[in-house]
Amino acid sequence: MPIWTALCFALAANDATLIDLHVDTVHQVFAHGRRLRGRAADVNLATMAAGDVGAAFFAIWVPARARDHVSYAERAYAAFKRMLAETKGAVVQARNAAEIRAAWAAGKRVALLAIEGAHALGDDPERLRVWRARGLVALGLTWTNSNAFAESDVDEAARRTRGENGRGLTKLGERLVALADELGVLIDTAHASAATLRDVTRISRQPPIASHTASRALCRHHRNLTDDSLRLIASRGGVVGLTFHGPHVRCGRRGRASLADIVLQLAHMKRVAGIDAIAIGSDYDGMIVTPTGLPNAASFKKLRTALRKSGFSADDISRIFQKNVLRVLERLDPMPAAGP
Ligand SMILES: [Zn+2]
Repeated sequence: MPIWTALCFALAANDATLIDLHVDTVHQVFAHGRRLRGRAADVNLATMAAGDVGAAFFAIWVPARARDHVSYAERAYAAFKRMLAETKGAVVQARNAAEIRAAWAAGKRVALLAIEGAHALGDDPERLRVWRARGLVALGLTWTNSNAFAESDVDEAARRTRGENGRGLTKLGERLVALADELGVLIDTAHASAATLRDVTRISRQPPIASHTASRALCRHHRNLTDDSLRLIASRGGVVGLTFHGPHVRCGRRGRASLADIVLQLAHMKRVAGIDAIAIGSDYDGMIVTPTGLPNAASFKKLRTALRKSGFSADDISRIFQKNVLRVLERLDPMPAAGP
């Protein structure tokens, strides 16, 4: 292993080291040949080091228009493995909170495997078993498209304009959520309809997450969560990751959000849902319109400073950046008591 990799990018984790709930870097690797050791992706070894990113949920994203969703997901997963292998141990995969801590103690950054859009499973919930065996920690039910399991926010919004109520989980989706509970896979309701979120909280015993979204009270977009939805996730011990996609952070101004808008979003979410329910889910590498001056994963450094100046305590920042996400991962994956 080249010594430079370990030396330049070794992690010295602290209480504000970030666990990002959603990045699309795997797609950049898969579709555009980008690498964590290169500079082209928003998330790479250098920007992770500069922004003190200790871990991220790396999503396997399957476009709705792909001809064969299952095989597309397989190829994206191959890219995920390639992406990690070429870091030569600087970034390793973890499947739970204990494995994250162990990797950090060894100076390594962490990739958590996630899926964005359950159509990646085709229409077979049982395929989730294969993904959990690969270390999947979070399953996003939908992308912008509804699928065999659940309705998306886009389709719910269209239904509303026709004066109809949104739809949530299908019968198959209910089976999928129950299986995710059994296997210990978090359900991610980002991109899902409000009705889907309600159904998930009715069925699942796990804390729900919404990995990359924002507050609808501040920016009226169907992709964002109403205060009721924010409170619902909080009431179940779940976590909401704030996206950095400008048009969802701040409506108008052609989506050019600023650092101040990011802080305003977090302050609102804290007021409504409480400090224990919020996190960061940047969506870097997801073809987003990044806020002014926050172009990549190195930008989290600025965010920590801005939050301190805005009255967030060091403890608040630690919860937002790390502890809330560790908590939901911990609840899913209780490690067996150490044996002799
Ligand atoms: Zn997304």
